[in-house]
Amino acid sequence: MEIEEYGEKFASPFLKKALKIHSDTRRFMSDFLKDRGFIELPPVIISGVTDPLNHPTSRSQIEIYGHIYELTKSMIFHKQLALHIADKIFAFSPNIRLEPEKRKTTGRHLIEFTQIDVEMRNTTREEIMDLGEDLVIYTMKKITEQDGDLLSSLGRKLKIPSKPFKKITFTDAYNEFSDKFEEELSKKAKEPFWIIDIPLKEREFYDREDPKRPGVLLDMDLIYPEGFGEAASGGEREFELNQIYTRIAKKNQKPEQFKWYIEFGKKFGFPKSAGFGIGIERFVRFITGAKRIEDVTPFPKGIGEFFPL
Ligand code: ASP
Ligand code: MG
Repeated sequence: MEIEEYGEKFASPFLKKALKIHSDTRRFMSDFLKDRGFIELPPVIISGVTDPLNHPTSRSQIEIYGHIYELTKSMIFHKQLALHIADKIFAFSPNIRLEPEKRKTTGRHLIEFTQIDVEMRNTTREEIMDLGEDLVIYTMKKITEQDGDLLSSLGRKLKIPSKPFKKITFTDAYNEFSDKFEEELSKKAKEPFWIIDIPLKEREFYDREDPKRPGVLLDMDLIYPEGFGEAASGGEREFELNQIYTRIAKKNQKPEQFKWYIEFGKKFGFPKSAGFGIGIERFVRFITGAKRIEDVTPFPKGIGEFFPL
């Protein structure tokens, strides 16, 4: 992106409106969680350990004082471990994910974005999905109330979803639509819905394997309707050391990659918890109906080119 293009971008009425909605979205999500007793964790940008993710993104690291830090891909481990401080945690977590170039045109990938990462102790997947539904509904209602005029001027009318959101298992979705199931289902849907029971090979080691159904995880993705695609990922977490080692091995990863997480857990315990992460820019894109995720933020970092600011 050239410097001149920022002038055009900043002058666009769309960005002005989207940024106000973006700001309010963050406020309402935070209000909702704080009202429910969640404590906000400050963001972690560099750390000795980060989310491996399931899809290939190159690792981004910096060396400081002779030590290697990774840039945060998600605060999954930090939010889990912070449950030693409080039972309900959330963070506006800035994530860096060096996505492959083929994702350049999806309209919903940035290499730098923020997700609201939520985690709660002694909770089931069903309970955390219920909380996620309430959070999405509350935010959409508040935006409709407070920014209704802005939405109308963008030609956007939001349908407030009803609870409970529909659920479809990964296997059923895959059997019906094969590889493109997420896209196809999202296009057909009128309200957000869940994809549940994602198989082990599709997800990271930290999502809990159902003890009654080996190979099936107690996890989920939230998908927006109207073709806006993935909103969130989440699940119950593995909390037994042996199982954590087994799961890391099944991903062909090495425990050394997660050394600091494991050492902490060995000493102080891995909390039994569930949680999810909702991408903020994607949520704002859905709320505003923006074509591209780049359009809802002033300094986007898209895939495959240089963005100087
Ligand atoms: N760590 C997940 C992600 O960033 C979200 C979650 O499972 O809470 O995709
Ligand atoms: Mg995901």
